[in-house]
Amino acid sequence: MLPPGVNRFVAGETAAGAIDHAADLNDDNIGAILNLLGEHYTDSRNAAADTRAYERLIADIGGTDLRACVSVKPTQLGLNVSKACFREHLSAIVDRAAEHDVFVWLDMEDHTTTDATLDAFENYVHEHRKMGVCVQANHKRTGEDLERLAGLPGKVRLVKGAYDPPAAVAHQSDERVDEATAAHLRTMFAAFDDGVALGSHDPELVTLAADLHAKHGTPYEVQMLMGVRTAAQRELAKHHNLWQYVPYGRKWPSYFYRRLTESSSSASLAVRALSPL
Ligand code: FAD
Repeated sequence: MLPPGVNRFVAGETAAGAIDHAADLNDDNIGAILNLLGEHYTDSRNAAADTRAYERLIADIGGTDLRACVSVKPTQLGLNVSKACFREHLSAIVDRAAEHDVFVWLDMEDHTTTDATLDAFENYVHEHRKMGVCVQANHKRTGEDLERLAGLPGKVRLVKGAYDPPAAVAHQSDERVDEATAAHLRTMFAAFDDGVALGSHDPELVTLAADLHAKHGTPYEVQMLMGVRTAAQRELAKHHNLWQYVPYGRKWPSYFYRRLTESSSSASLAVRALSPL
């Protein structure tokens, strides 16, 4: 049982809790992106255990009419152990997802993981087209990454970026990140056929996505975190294809308290503090 407060942002300690939450979301016309909490593993046994858990989850949701998918972190699948370890575990998840027709998102972690994450996405998306990868608008390289991704099947989730990369690789000011996010969103709606995903709570960006959809006809979805702008999510789901990112699992204490210690009074930092990333 999660303590009060935590259960606003985390769907439970078990997959069953996350699946129950997903069913409630579906009743409000919101899809669920399920994420088992875990990251930065340096022992391949942890990566293997979470991979098995994802395989079971995929089999469970694949056999239902639930509108749900999964989102995995490269370092949860062993990227810090070795690229081979990451590939082995991602491959198992993609195979199971293809078998059960389940969508798999790859979260994007800190800037040292970008190449390995994009390479893995490119490698597996031809095998299982129901795949997506996240890109971070604060990274200066993202324009070039989007050119590469436009030529591939699958979806791309654009976010502002939850990490603090150095100035050599990333825009530092909120204003510059906001400008880059809007510019990348315009590029994506013009160049992507398989759809655009916006991972943001920012009302201006949600409006921009709707306007760009009206202009280009490109399908799109808006993704938000569990526990953030909850009432707005229900309202937005009446007019947008809305998905909620739903963290669950026993690793909530470190996740929750680590994020809280980073939080400040600003809405932006509070969201970052509570984000799964
Ligand atoms: P912010 O800049 O935080 O806020 C912009 C505006 O949104 C605010 O001014 C306010 O008007 C509104 N707003 C924000 N929060 C609230 C609130 N609590 N209540 C009311 N209004 C609010 N980052 C990664 O680096 N990698 C990932 O893989 C990744 N995946 C993500 C997946 C999803 C579904 C989401 C939603 C975020 C993800 N992120 C990821 C985090 C992301 O990079 C940002 O750090 C985070 O979303 C905060 O930026 P924002 O766009 O929501 O807007």
